[in-house]
Amino acid sequence: MKLTNEVYLVGGGDHGIRLTHRSDCAVYLIDGGDNQLALIDAGVGADTRAIVRNIEEHGFNPENIKVVYLTHYHTDHIGGARDWRDWFGCKVAIAAEEAPFVENADEEKLGLKVAKEAGYYPKDFVVKPCPIDIKLGDDQELTIGQLKMRTLISPGHTLAHICYVLQGKEKRYLFAGDHITYGGLVSFQNYENSGSSLDGYRNSAHKFVGLNIDAFLPSHMLFTLNRGQTEVDLMVAACKNLFFNGRFYAPMRIF
Ligand SMILES: [Zn+2]
Repeated sequence: MKLTNEVYLVGGGDHGIRLTHRSDCAVYLIDGGDNQLALIDAGVGADTRAIVRNIEEHGFNPENIKVVYLTHYHTDHIGGARDWRDWFGCKVAIAAEEAPFVENADEEKLGLKVAKEAGYYPKDFVVKPCPIDIKLGDDQELTIGQLKMRTLISPGHTLAHICYVLQGKEKRYLFAGDHITYGGLVSFQNYENSGSSLDGYRNSAHKFVGLNIDAFLPSHMLFTLNRGQTEVDLMVAACKNLFFNGRFYAPMRIF
């Protein structure tokens, strides 16, 4: 699905518009020009070919995807990383602190064990470990063809979740991952050592002030193409109160 001349939605599951496998997070393709493409998140890995087909149907060659930028280590975002790397030679990037989760694919550390027990994934579902080529830090400038993108390390949903701010030619985009969902909803995982923390949200909220985002592109549910800062400001406002008054995003079971 073409969103603008520079960003396409090429994957997404049941917590979205159901483009591809039901467990895929939203997968966005960035066309930076000069045959330089990038992906935001990899999908769950149960049917990566469906995402590839969408990319090809838009006239792009997946061989031109240089980097898969992961927002965080949860299974629906990273399960397909190994496919992209093996099939097309893409580099895979994530926050340095979260790299071991993807490289080791330990089900307990990924939260997959808990998610399976809760019925979010089939018992026999397996995540393939994937080497990380680029370990990202905060406020790092990235280049995709003629476009620039910046990392915002934003703990809260996970310990080093990354939101990516892309300065396009048409718009300013926020790839919000699971850190913020439409309506300013935030998302915590409720088990020991999940990495989710209100401290993380509160301490990183200042990074989101005045970003002037046009297109708000989260990993689940509704995205917006204009006035996206509205969603961001709702999260920031919630984090400023003595009693956290934000709202929570609670995904439904999808298997
Ligand atoms: Zn997540």
